[in-house]
Amino acid sequence: MSSSSSTPSNPAGPGDDAALDGLLDPENPAATYVLEPEVVAPLVARLVTSSTSGTHRSVLPFTGAPLASFPTSSPADVEHAVERARTAQRSWARVPVAERARVLRDFGALVLAEQSDGLDLVQMESGKSRRSAFEEVADLAIVTRHYAVRGPRYLADRRVPGMLPVLTGTRVHRRPVGVVGVVAPWNYPLTLAFAEAVPALLAGNAVVLKPDPQTTLTALWGAELLERAGLPADLLLVVAGGGDVGAALTDHVDHIAFTGSTATGRKVAARAGERLIGATLELGGKNPLYVAADAHVPSAARAAVRACFGSSGQLCVSIERLVLHEAVADAFLDEFVPLVRAMRLGAGLDYSADMGSLTSQAQLDRVVEHVDDALARGARVLAGGVHRADIGPFFYAPTVLDDVPHDARCAREETFGPVVSVVRVASDEEAVRVMNDTELGLNASVWTRDAARGRRIAAQVEAGTVNVNDGYSAAWGSVGAPMGGFKASGLGRRHGREGIEALTEAQTVSVQRGANQGLSLDTLYELGGELPSRVLTTALDVMRRLRLP
Ligand code: NAD
Repeated sequence: MSSSSSTPSNPAGPGDDAALDGLLDPENPAATYVLEPEVVAPLVARLVTSSTSGTHRSVLPFTGAPLASFPTSSPADVEHAVERARTAQRSWARVPVAERARVLRDFGALVLAEQSDGLDLVQMESGKSRRSAFEEVADLAIVTRHYAVRGPRYLADRRVPGMLPVLTGTRVHRRPVGVVGVVAPWNYPLTLAFAEAVPALLAGNAVVLKPDPQTTLTALWGAELLERAGLPADLLLVVAGGGDVGAALTDHVDHIAFTGSTATGRKVAARAGERLIGATLELGGKNPLYVAADAHVPSAARAAVRACFGSSGQLCVSIERLVLHEAVADAFLDEFVPLVRAMRLGAGLDYSADMGSLTSQAQLDRVVEHVDDALARGARVLAGGVHRADIGPFFYAPTVLDDVPHDARCAREETFGPVVSVVRVASDEEAVRVMNDTELGLNASVWTRDAARGRRIAAQVEAGTVNVNDGYSAAWGSVGAPMGGFKASGLGRRHGREGIEALTEAQTVSVQRGANQGLSLDTLYELGGELPSRVLTTALDVMRRLRLP
């Protein structure tokens, strides 16, 4: 799919400016990785656009050079896409769920089999390392497998006790909502485009997907694989563009599944509220990792490296605050900081780098602002703290800050980059207070040798997922369990039963037996006067004594 040069990597320690051999051609950096037109054209041909649309040019984060150019969708294109999807959905809803599951299982198999192309695209659009990109492939394999196997059970009709025992037969059905709009960010372009599309399609919906403009090709690659897996035409359509296109999508679909920032999430929720459609919002995090006094320090330090710097910290569930019990704080930092300094930064389309680039100039600006602000308020750099322009325009060293004052921006706001601050605490109670001292509540991590203690602490933490002795993968990858945010980190949940039920309408159908033989409430009421109430009072009292549900 692309051409690549020799192994690019560079130690991340502060002040280390080792020359970069073989990665970038200083005369012509844009030539380092090239997306061939024959790769781009068939992908772009899948977009729903028209001649009135504009154009978007994406950038190769590794070098800042142009990557691809494609037309964007107008609001009319979005409306047209939703209409096409709505027509296709009517037939899809009648396809047996086992066949819908087969398509998704085959999609998962294709993602695994053809991962090399997908990994190249994810890396070239997002700038992340290959191992972080692989997390996306693995995630899609897990999600498709889970919903293909368990989804039909989640969607099955459910009998519930009827109003009158024996006489009322009540079942709950899960009907598709119709067309689900998926708005995805750039940081996990494969995972976040399809994690909601997969259960939506299984439930009998159609999907119109709006990826971030920077990562549109990855979404189109996934759409192509879905078609090859047997998804009928128009059931997953991709529209291209920025916030205006996302807003137009919210105006036409029957449910909006949004992943992105808390600020945009509030706008999407407000519009969904006006239209009275369902909204699932997966938003930002300011996630803490607590190392308790009894933790196995070397394991916690090793795991914290990936938890903080996976995907260059541009991961909603990644750790931005290290809350260290004072009994182990120094020992932890003695293990952790050298590991961070030794991380290899690089831009290769291979597994040689521990961490890749930030995705854009805007991300770099935000990281620099947060670090500068913390330093101006008295914070100390334990590792990193430098822009690594010697590797590529948006590279930033993995950074550990100590003595970060409470009012520093990086102590309170999501940085969404490779920056973590250290806070020392004297007890589990103080740790819980610090962990909860934010308006966000997406993910948390607790390290202890005592699982019961971990669960006790978790019960007090205001976060949608809590990982004991893991950074974020254990809860995220347990896709049978709901995933989402407390407080300003989101609304609703993805994954598991909750994730697919959110993309359906619950319909209750009650069949009253005996009504045609005179055995109905109406017949009882026809007796008139107080008698019907007396009969019903006795019946309700008997049911209460029998503890009928
Ligand atoms: P963003 O909110 O700027 O953009 C996200 C998407 O929304 C993009 O596709 C954008 O084009 C679109 N958009 C913008 N305005 C819109 C509007 N008015 N209506 C509809 N769509 C609109 O977020 P971002 O900076 O691209 O992504 C990073 C953020 O995403 C971080 O805050 C991160 O924590 C969050 N995130 C959350 C999760 C999660 O699962 N909780 C996962 C990944 C990222």
